[in-house]
Amino acid sequence: MELQHRGLAIKNTLETRKAVRRGRRTRHTRYRQARFLNRKRPDGWLAPSLIHRVHTTLTWVKRLIKFTPVAEIRQELVRFDLQQLENPEISGVEYQQGELLGYNIREYLLCKWDRKCTYCKVENVPLQIEHIVPKAKNGSNRISNLCLACEKCNQKKGTQDITTFLSKKPDLLKQIQSQAKRPLKDAAAVNSTRWALFNALKLTGLPVSTGSGGLTKFNRTRLGLPKTHWLDSVCVGVVDKVKILINKILIVKATGKGTRRLCRINKFGFPCSKPRHAYKHGWQTGDIATGKGVTGRVVVQSDTRLEIRVSGKRVGGKLNDFKLLHSKDSYSYA
Ligand SMILES: [Zn+2]
Repeated sequence: MELQHRGLAIKNTLETRKAVRRGRRTRHTRYRQARFLNRKRPDGWLAPSLIHRVHTTLTWVKRLIKFTPVAEIRQELVRFDLQQLENPEISGVEYQQGELLGYNIREYLLCKWDRKCTYCKVENVPLQIEHIVPKAKNGSNRISNLCLACEKCNQKKGTQDITTFLSKKPDLLKQIQSQAKRPLKDAAAVNSTRWALFNALKLTGLPVSTGSGGLTKFNRTRLGLPKTHWLDSVCVGVVDKVKILINKILIVKATGKGTRRLCRINKFGFPCSKPRHAYKHGWQTGDIATGKGVTGRVVVQSDTRLEIRVSGKRVGGKLNDFKLLHSKDSYSYA
């Protein structure tokens, strides 16, 4: 199976909530004491969008253990250690003081710039760390100012500004400038959650082993398998040979449990709906049910009526006309 997280959706809803609260503070209301400095975060705290990855993965690990005989768990660890890097786009001081020095920063840059020379895209040659805004012109050591270049390009660019160096290639210039600022978001998320996930997996009581991304790739190439997430998972760790019995997988998507808001607000912040009651006589929108010749997701319409919507068709009926197959569990299946 393939599990799709909703990390980005969580981030977006939390940002919306933040904006609503911020708007509330500037309104003429009673004095509210500042509350932003009176809380502590426990050690090992992860952002909600990140801890969500750990929790959903663990949910499915537990479900699979329940339904199938699982003997061992294997987890892939990514190539470079952002754990040490903490904040990947950090300032020059830390870079010079060695926390980022050497292997780590090189691996990070190799991954960020696709193992190619940034300027001429040549591959499989020794690459040098290159300052986009040259040091001679006060360019910083921030990772967002670093890229990789082959020796030829590095020499040719010298202390020129990138805009003069690439004045004949405006497209490439634009692409490099935008990519330089973009941190490796996915990698950062995977890295900060992997140890949390590893520790959580150990609590299941099963032996947990880990493999690197490089080993996965090696296994996949050796076994001649195409690059997909689910076939990659087969190749994690030390694998001798595999037998693939299926060509279709279950796609599970985390959809969230809906909103906890009792009342929605309009764009001016005024309440515009009645409190939402999720359950009607044990039924909830999102349940999977069968009845009247169809099977699918249920939409609860009133205290007495349900509707199933399948491929554009709507089949409605009374509560008793349908039989519940699976309660809404905040995942969609395909
Ligand atoms: Zn080059």
